[in-house]
Order: sequence, then structure tokens, then C-alpha cells
Amino acid sequence: MKDGLVTLPLKDKFDLPDGVIYLDGNSLGPLPKGVTERLGNMATEEWGQHLIRGWNVDDWMGQPVRVGNRIARLIGAPTGSVVMGDTLSLKVYQALSAALKMRPDRKVILSDSGNFPSDLYMAQGLIAQLDQGHELRIVAPEEVMDGLTDEIAVAMITQVDYRTGRQHDMAALTARARKAGAVMLWDLAHSAGAVPVDLAGCGCEFAVGCTYKYLNGGPGAPAFIYVRPDIIGDITPAMAGWLGHEAPFAFEPSYRPAKDIERMRIGTPPVIQMTALEEALKVWDGIDMADIRAKSVVLCELFIAEVEKRCAGLSLASPRDPDTRGSQVSFAFENGYAAMQALISEGVIGDFRAPNIMRFGFTPLYIDESDVIAAVDILQRILTERLWDQPQFKQKGRVT
Ligand SMILES: *Cc1c(COP(=O)(O)O)cnc(C)c1O
Repeated sequence: MKDGLVTLPLKDKFDLPDGVIYLDGNSLGPLPKGVTERLGNMATEEWGQHLIRGWNVDDWMGQPVRVGNRIARLIGAPTGSVVMGDTLSLKVYQALSAALKMRPDRKVILSDSGNFPSDLYMAQGLIAQLDQGHELRIVAPEEVMDGLTDEIAVAMITQVDYRTGRQHDMAALTARARKAGAVMLWDLAHSAGAVPVDLAGCGCEFAVGCTYKYLNGGPGAPAFIYVRPDIIGDITPAMAGWLGHEAPFAFEPSYRPAKDIERMRIGTPPVIQMTALEEALKVWDGIDMADIRAKSVVLCELFIAEVEKRCAGLSLASPRDPDTRGSQVSFAFENGYAAMQALISEGVIGDFRAPNIMRFGFTPLYIDESDVIAAVDILQRILTERLWDQPQFKQKGRVT
């Protein structure tokens, strides 16, 4: 398929193992070519030779904002509004605590039952820590819109459901939040690099996300946080660290936040990890998220049609309408865990989410129609020959 500036897929930009169809880029993106060499150079030249001088000569200090700017383009955010660091769970805590401070008269955090548990846990922990009578109100995803009343201090919503791929309408919910006077915090963990996002257009106050999923930054890659530029000067960051200080190297005894997005930094960034991410993000040069989205819909629709035609016993657990679905497709199957293990043993890597969800991520950067057909061929054989029904496929590892 010829798209805008580049032709998808871009398989030759990735080091994927032979014989593997990788449908788990929604959990951990694959290794982009160039990262290995860049990391080697980072270690031998930058760390090895430059030592402490690397902070200036290699501009490690500027990396969190520089990399944030690369991500900003992919999520519709202006330059200078995104900064990298820490893990997504911490960024959720940071954004949520700052958002609550903006609405001292309100006590309710609204979220939904499709949110990822860590986001909910962070909210619960923050509420306990504040001890000011806040409530975490968890409603069904379809009830978020009506739940946005003038009681709500903050709506903390993950756009794309990690389990089913159900996708919220960011523009509509953000507009409703604004009408209700609530602060809007979006989690883009399964959106960034997967679907077009228009942060500036929707006008939300905060957004956070991780970079090891569709952005291919590698295991442990740092998270990002976006704060709407017109409010950054009034944000009170919880976890005020020295690198969020206006003048870290003045070593003042009192905290003074940086004037811009750097106030959301905490401490020393994971330079090696962020170097891998920075290199990995080059894959996106010249890519328009609209082209990624168009191809992703084609792949997901093809997968659903083929599975429903050929794989009895599996039932679609994702929304059927592509407009309300992210870049993944889930099927419920009672022997889903064993079937997924059998699939993985045949080189088709997806994953499993309790209690019975087989989850498949579609990333047009390195997946095309022939991969979809080949994956369903294997799935069909596993099901018709009951190849999953073997003890080695029923043993659960520490990570499923
Ligand atoms: C993947 C994911 C996380 C994981 O958080 P980490 O701190 O990076 O482990 C959190 N929230 C959502 C919505 C996710 O999809």
C-alpha cells in the first residue's frame, strides 16, 4: 500500500525473528534496526569515553524534552508540551495529583471499569495519601459520558481498553468534561503510535502514556506526560525533584518549579533506555498517523472476518465497529490460554488476558495482509486439530 510519504509496511526497519508473526506490539514493540548499534555507541563512546561530560556534550540533559517533542508530533501536541521520564504508573500519579489540586472543592475521580488496574491502584493510593475524603468512582465505559457531572474533579480515562480494544471518543468526552468543569486526564498507553490522537484539538489538560508498546522503545522505556501549555505555569507537581527545579544546578534548599514542561521531571532520567527509544522513534519519520490508522483498520477487519469464517468457538470480544476500536482485536475462547500458548509455539505471538481473552495487536509498521492470513491459517489448524489440548500449553508462567 502506498501511503503519503512512505510505503507500509516497513518490515525492513525491524529486526524480527525469522518465522515469527508478531501480533503483540501492543504489549511490547519489536526491536527497530539501528537500536543495537546506537546502544553500543552510547555505551562505548558516550558513557565510556565522555563520562560525566556526556550530560553536556551528548546533551543527555536535553533528552527528556527532545524525545518528548518526537512523541508530541504523533499525539497532536505542540512542541514543548511533552516530557519523558519515570514509568507510566508514576506519570498517572503525577498528573492525577496535579489535576486534583486544580479542583480543591471537588472530591470525585471518575474512571471506568475498562481502565488498566495500575491506573486505578495509583488513584487509590493517592486518595489514601491525601486523606481528604476523595472518592474513586468506577463506572462502565458506556456510562462515562453521563457520569461527567459537576461533582467530578478529574476524569481519568484510558482511551483504548487494554483488554477489548474499545476506544473512547476523546473529543466528545473532553468537551463534556469541560462543560462539567472537570479536569480531563487521558491515558494514551494503547493509543500513542496506534491511532491518531489530537491533544491540542481536544483541549484536555493532561495526557500520559508509555513508549514500550506501539512506540517500540523496548522493555522499561520511559513514559511521557503532556500538560496543556497554557496551564503548565500553575501546575503543582507532586514528587518535586531536583530536575524539575527551575535551576537544578543552583542547588537551592527550596523547590521552585521550572516554568515549562520540565517541571514534570523528577530525578535523573534513564539515559540508556531513552537513547534506545530516541533511536526507535526514527521509524516514525515521514509517517502520517492517518495512514497507520487506515491500514490498521484494514488488517483488523480482515482478521475478524477470517477468524469468524474459519475458527468456530471463538467469539469477538472487541467492538465490531472500527470507529470504536483501537488497533487490537480480542476474541474470547474458554481454552484461550492454552490456545495462545499453542499459537506462540507455532510462531504466532499474541497474548492472553484473564479470564478468557486472546488478544492480537495489529501494527501496520511491520504487519501486512499476508501475515494476517498466515496467522489465521495456523490458528484454524490449532483449533480443528485441538493442538492446544496438551499439558505443556496449560502451564502458566509468571507473566501471561
Ligand atoms: C501498559 C499500561 C500501564 C503500565 O504502566 P507501567 O507503569 O508502565 O508499568 C499503565 N496503564 C495503562 C492504561 C497501560 O495500558
